[in-house]
Amino acid sequence: MKFDVEIDSRSGFCNGVVRAVQQAENYLKFSHHLNSLGDIVHNSLELERLKAKGLEILSLQQASKLRNDVILIRAHGEPPGTYDLLHRNNIQIIDCTCPVVLKLQERVRSVYQRLSPEGGQVVIFGKQGHAEVNGLVGQTDGHAIVIDSVKSASDLDYSKPTALFSQTTKDPVEYREIARYVKSKRPDAQVYDTICTQVAQRHESLVAFARTHSAIIFVSGRESSNGKVLFDLCRSVNTRSYRVENVSQIDPGWLCDGDNVGICGATSTPKWQLEEIFVYLRGLSDNQ
Ligand code: SF4
Repeated sequence: MKFDVEIDSRSGFCNGVVRAVQQAENYLKFSHHLNSLGDIVHNSLELERLKAKGLEILSLQQASKLRNDVILIRAHGEPPGTYDLLHRNNIQIIDCTCPVVLKLQERVRSVYQRLSPEGGQVVIFGKQGHAEVNGLVGQTDGHAIVIDSVKSASDLDYSKPTALFSQTTKDPVEYREIARYVKSKRPDAQVYDTICTQVAQRHESLVAFARTHSAIIFVSGRESSNGKVLFDLCRSVNTRSYRVENVSQIDPGWLCDGDNVGICGATSTPKWQLEEIFVYLRGLSDNQ
């Protein structure tokens, strides 16, 4: 069996994750231990690599027991209450909140402060319980309403002034549909374009990549919400799309003689993992 293999040049970590991982690695060059509040990246192999260097992942409950220590806040950001808690306990923060997320937090906070005296509502299209969404809801003292579909948007109270935001990694097409629905119910609703540009551009380029390859191996951690969105996108245009976390999950029976196989991944998939899959597939093609 012979086939071609190509890595999507646009896949790999987004800038926010690159920055957080770099800062963790820089710190770990001089100290052999660093706490991270939650998974620094939703990718188990990358986490194992960083843990081997001394990164320790803590839940908020575990972090609340630290005193006079150091902790990294990942790209997703945190609500204000987390900062208050860490400051109270004299914890030094290495703040890796992505600048795009920081800006979004500020916008959510200022819109909430403007709308709440008039009884308005801040609505966030995102995954309930996701760290970035928790950070956004925290800007509104917990009052923002999280929705995940047009169906849940139909449960909103449209008698109230409404502002709509999106988690940075959501599907731009779905967000447009939700925005249209909200506007149809409340024409003066304010809709903010808050999907990360890198994510939005990746959606477009990934569709083209999946269409121009006969089979797609999509690499991402099961926990990655961006991974789920991007994989579904690949599968919507190429039914021979397969999602794996590592080389061992690849079934050679998925591939055929003459294929041109595309390898791509989520914003939380490191380049080295795509390259590892590339080497494996090249070997498979050459040896059969
Ligand atoms: S997806 Fe965009 S906003 Fe989110 S962490 Fe990455 S670069 Fe930042």
